[in-house]
Amino acid sequence: MITAHDLAARLKDLEPIGLGPSGTTRLAWTPEDAAARRWFERQAVAGGLRAERDPAGNLWAVPGAPGPWWGVGSHLDSVRSGGRHDGALGVAAAFEVAARAGVPLAVISFADEEGARFNTPTFGSRALVGRLDVDDALGRVDDDGVTMADALTAAGVDPAGLPAAPRRLALLRGFVELHIDQTRDLARAGVPAGVVGALASRMRVEVELTGRADHAGTTRRNERRDALAAAARLIVRADELAGGDPEFVVTATRLLVEPGALTTIPSHVALWIDARAPAPSTVEQWRAGLDRVAQELARATGVAIEVRTSAQSAGVAFDPAIRSRLSAACADLGSAGAELVCFAGHDAGVLAERLPAGMAFVRNATGVSHAPDEQVALEDAAVAAEAMLRALEELAA
Ligand SMILES: [Zn+2]
Repeated sequence: MITAHDLAARLKDLEPIGLGPSGTTRLAWTPEDAAARRWFERQAVAGGLRAERDPAGNLWAVPGAPGPWWGVGSHLDSVRSGGRHDGALGVAAAFEVAARAGVPLAVISFADEEGARFNTPTFGSRALVGRLDVDDALGRVDDDGVTMADALTAAGVDPAGLPAAPRRLALLRGFVELHIDQTRDLARAGVPAGVVGALASRMRVEVELTGRADHAGTTRRNERRDALAAAARLIVRADELAGGDPEFVVTATRLLVEPGALTTIPSHVALWIDARAPAPSTVEQWRAGLDRVAQELARATGVAIEVRTSAQSAGVAFDPAIRSRLSAACADLGSAGAELVCFAGHDAGVLAERLPAGMAFVRNATGVSHAPDEQVALEDAAVAAEAMLRALEELAA
């Protein structure tokens, strides 16, 4: 049986990397990322695996037996001031699983999963499945003015090699990822580990509101075309459109206001809204409703409102065979429960477009993620890892 002690031993040299007073910061293609890579390579060598890096910078620890193999892993990068176990726990558990498995497994750490530096989430897995817009990604700039192309080069990854990354996919039969629960679902259910049935459908909407700048004092009410007042109404209506469905979440995430002068009516607002629900049709209906509301508001306020869908994912159901084996293994280990719907993106979800893929979650007492307040017990993680080990041995047999 995999124990908490086994996982703690693997995490010991990884956890200090990028750990500061406000949490863990291991952004992609930085010295902290390189230090995590060295940890990965030491783990590989100690386990008799060969450490390799694919053209997208994903880290692989592969067995001597020829591929294709089942893959297991997660990511080693973090957001700024993130939690210690998000991603890292999945990679550490993967090494423990690979070491104990009676079948050859490849351990993978996907590059830049969080996308925190260049706003390129699941960069490495999207490159692997051939779904990365390479030119767009390479041209992105971080807060210090460094392009992703330069950051990759500095980290020893040739940007010109990125388009070749999908060739590597043929080495995988499937992929399983262990991750912390980013909700309190498992904590509420009172079980240490659970199986993810599907990733939720997600949509990102960008709204441009164009009114007219004018004096905040001398402009009469009926002469105003206040872009920010219209945006505020739209935000409230977007939330109301979601209705009472607790599984449908709508978030206004970003608002840019111009001219931003203290005595001027705002002339222009750029607004982003993120919407997620288990079923794509729920999000589609909401989107149609948002168009209607925007038209109403434009008529009522004299502000031009343009709504665009800037990103969309229909969501993904994980492989039924993986789910059933993981569920059976969890139940055998005393962690029986309903499957979860996950509202965040993950590398396993990206791979699921091309390969059998699945995920096991570990109870998180606070439900917090992307912050140091996440709270995972390694005893719980050991249950999820053991379930993954048993499932993979059956799948690979
Ligand atoms: Zn993560």
